[in-house]
Amino acid sequence: MDKSNTNSFRDYFKGLCMKIARNTEVDGFFWDEPHYAYPKSYASMTGGAGDDWACRCPECMKKFEAYYGYEMPKFMNDDVKQFRWREALETLEIVSKALKEYNPKLEITCCVHATLNSYYVTELRGYDNWEMVAACPYFDVFSTTIINWSLPESFFQEITERTVAMAKKYGKQSERWLMGYNKRPDDFKQIDKVVDLYESLGVDRLATWTYRGGYGTSVAAKDSIELWDNIGRNYMRVLKKDE
Ligand SMILES: [Zn+2]
Repeated sequence: MDKSNTNSFRDYFKGLCMKIARNTEVDGFFWDEPHYAYPKSYASMTGGAGDDWACRCPECMKKFEAYYGYEMPKFMNDDVKQFRWREALETLEIVSKALKEYNPKLEITCCVHATLNSYYVTELRGYDNWEMVAACPYFDVFSTTIINWSLPESFFQEITERTVAMAKKYGKQSERWLMGYNKRPDDFKQIDKVVDLYESLGVDRLATWTYRGGYGTSVAAKDSIELWDNIGRNYMRVLKKDE
């Protein structure tokens, strides 16, 4: 998404999404962890991001200066953070608005990184200001991404509480994810616990990535099919409760 701030990128992306909306019977769109491009080493699952990087393409430089009245700095500051949050979101806002105008029934989900200060991945990658994302009037579902099974329960709890609170505040549905790739929990019972936690905290929707625990792919979890089955069993369990 390095060039997300140019009109040509936005026009291209909008055109593509509208083409899909017009030519298929798709139910909605899912914005999956949108973010600015980063050098890989700066953004790992476990480490923090470097804070000295920013897009300095001519378009961004021009917009930044017009808004803040000085040349975009070479190091991160609060204006750059705010600039990124606003400009990144604007791309999806414009496209989501166009989709909703075409067909208000299209359901739009925006799934952002599950960040917690500097402990997990607060990457300043454009969508880490949850408040701004959840406030977007064209999104129906506010979603936060996968948490590794090995992280402490308190982390699951805090992320989920904040996700639900943010969604409620802006009249959206809340969505929380389950890790269905790369790693299985040491004990499959943890899936039941996490699903119970999500349900008790008022999460509206569960989601999982990826199909069959990534079986046969490079992102496969150990015991991937068993992982998939246990997640499926939990879906059945909570769906039955609603009947
Ligand atoms: Zn740029």
